[in-house]
Amino acid sequence: MAEEQVVIERDLPGKPHQGKVLAAVHAHLDDIPYYCGGTFAKLIREGYTGYIIRTTNDEKCGGGTPAENIRSNEKEHLRMARTLGASEVFDFYYRNHRMNNISSQELRARLVFLFRLLRVDTVLTFNPWGHGEENPDHWATGRAVEEACWMSGMSNDYPEHTEAGLAPHAVQERYYFVGRRGQPFNRVVDISSTLEQKIDSLAECKSQGGGNEGARFKASLAAEGKRLPILGEDEETANRAYIRLFLLEEYRSLGQNFGLAWAEPFTYLDHRIPDGHPDRSRYIQEHAVPLR
Ligand SMILES: [Zn+2]
Repeated sequence: MAEEQVVIERDLPGKPHQGKVLAAVHAHLDDIPYYCGGTFAKLIREGYTGYIIRTTNDEKCGGGTPAENIRSNEKEHLRMARTLGASEVFDFYYRNHRMNNISSQELRARLVFLFRLLRVDTVLTFNPWGHGEENPDHWATGRAVEEACWMSGMSNDYPEHTEAGLAPHAVQERYYFVGRRGQPFNRVVDISSTLEQKIDSLAECKSQGGGNEGARFKASLAAEGKRLPILGEDEETANRAYIRLFLLEEYRSLGQNFGLAWAEPFTYLDHRIPDGHPDRSRYIQEHAVPLR
């Protein structure tokens, strides 16, 4: 996509999104922190109420047995969500790396239920059709989210929800991550003002995501009789400095391409604007004639 077609989304004053609801749907502990942590925190600051939904159990990531990994990722996920200002977290616990083998319709139904329950207006998730995606959990999640955004607004789908008091409610705005290098984007969000929260969220990702790499690096340097003053005196300072220096380069260089300090890219879709329908009132005004 040509750069002139890219919209830069900057900080907005006040709380323009007050009353709106945001759901970030990811598969693994560290997806949201990397792909959209700065944007999630920005949108919360601008008035959204935000929820985080994690689809897998993260059993393959961490230094322990699968059971130990599930538990450590679960604890870190709650802490990570808190740093970004999420109101609540939902974990679906599908088996890690095996989501192309689950029922996509069950996943979609669970998402439709939550989108209706929470009255979600906007989602942040994987690009369902982004090329180069090697992890089936990513595309399986993204495709189910895309279907659920639309279907949650259809009154004939899951009518028992209506009986239970949940009205249909379509998700109108979508921000799709750039999950792999080269995937398209039409919007870059300036995250300079929420960078510290993005770093905070990554620092909680210790089972995966590099949240404890700084402390490890500091220890390995010490074993060689060296130290880097920027890594500070304690492990958490080292972790945060390491994240800022070495793990976020693509967000720094993307920002610089657009005159910003730091930025996150997305394919943004706004379904509040109907596709391909002419403005009916204007058409009537211009073409209607009196009945004979
Ligand atoms: Zn992931």
